[in-house]
Amino acid sequence: MNPFDFVREHEIPAAVKSGAREGAKFIAGGTNVVDLLKCDVERPTHLVDINALPLGKIETVSGGVKIGSMVRMSDLAANSHIIQNFPAISQALLVSASPQIRNMASIGGNLMQRTRCPYFRELTWTPCNKRNPGSRCSAIEGENRLHAVLGTSDACIATHPSDLAVAVAALDGVLTLRGPAGERKVNAVDFHLLPGNTPHLEHNLKHGEIIESIFIPDAAYAKRSAYLKIRDRAAYEFALASAAVGLDISGDTIRSARIAFGGVGTKPWRAKFAEAALVGQRPTPNIFRAAAEAEMKSAKSYGQNAFKIEFMKRTLVRALTDLTGGAA
Ligand SMILES: Cc1cc2nc3c(=O)[nH]c(=O)nc-3n(C[C@H](O)[C@H](O)[C@H](O)COP(=O)(O)OP(=O)(O)OC[C@H]3O[C@@H](n4cnc5c(N)ncnc54)[C@H](O)[C@@H]3O)c2cc1C
Ligand code: SF4
Repeated sequence: MNPFDFVREHEIPAAVKSGAREGAKFIAGGTNVVDLLKCDVERPTHLVDINALPLGKIETVSGGVKIGSMVRMSDLAANSHIIQNFPAISQALLVSASPQIRNMASIGGNLMQRTRCPYFRELTWTPCNKRNPGSRCSAIEGENRLHAVLGTSDACIATHPSDLAVAVAALDGVLTLRGPAGERKVNAVDFHLLPGNTPHLEHNLKHGEIIESIFIPDAAYAKRSAYLKIRDRAAYEFALASAAVGLDISGDTIRSARIAFGGVGTKPWRAKFAEAALVGQRPTPNIFRAAAEAEMKSAKSYGQNAFKIEFMKRTLVRALTDLTGGAA
């Protein structure tokens, strides 16, 4: 492991200043970054501990809820206001990782976690464009059963691993970021980047910037929302396919819909085509299937992961059917 120095900051301006140093990296719960240090994928020269920053509150604010980036996954999952008004958020967290990891891991760190593509962490340094730009993608013609079918490029097909990020993208979350140049806000759907030719660039966060909080707006579709995750084993496993779904239904008509996919996209995948197919329709199995078909039209398989295309469609249909009480 590379040598690094370590500082614990207590105030946001000091953390931003420390984090802006060349080679600096933030550490929150450490459940992702320590792994990457150990396998030498990340080599910071300064580690800035942000656990003592005053960013640990869940606050009801005008028009929604504001979640500090240092809130622990377990605390957010168990919060009664979240369970009642944003169930997809709580459900996405409860199917993430393990209770021990959720007690340690932060919301900000969860959004920033890096892919689980095995080649990315491969200790024998198999080519990987994300770890070593320009070296090649080993997954495209290699072991790719777990890889993405949406948003891929010739440079990278790795999935984004976060469940929470999928629910936040579906429910129109907005991130507040703070860096040396001050505060800015970014919509969650724009925070993670498609790989294109630059898969090493994964998010819209500049060096030294910190995620301060996430705002989720109150909405009827947020109150009637859910998260369904399908995986190889029932616990402690990343998604093969997942769907965050939210519907605002008036009478027997869908007034608005919010949908995002996990486990199939190179970023948390907001499913705008599926949403458009649902609005103005009655919630029936045929309409749910049509929505799934509309979104997966652009999917591309790489051999072993071909099953994910049909699998994702069925995951969405089941999530919507469960959400509407099988009313279809
Ligand atoms: C065995 C295992 C299984 C898992 N399964 C799942 C799963 O099923 N679903 C899922 O979603 N996740 C899963 N995870 C991932 C886990 O949820 C993340 O490791 C965790 O959320 C990261 O949070 P952290 O606070 O520990 O981040 P850290 O490891 O401390 O940091 C991760 C990254 O975020 C950056 N960072 C942290 N906080 C901030 C901030 N406020 N602003 C800017 N940058 C920041 C750090 O610099 C670092 O780059 C799993 C992890 C393990 C080890
Ligand atoms: S899919 Fe991405 S992370 Fe995995 S080997 Fe290819 S370039 Fe690397």
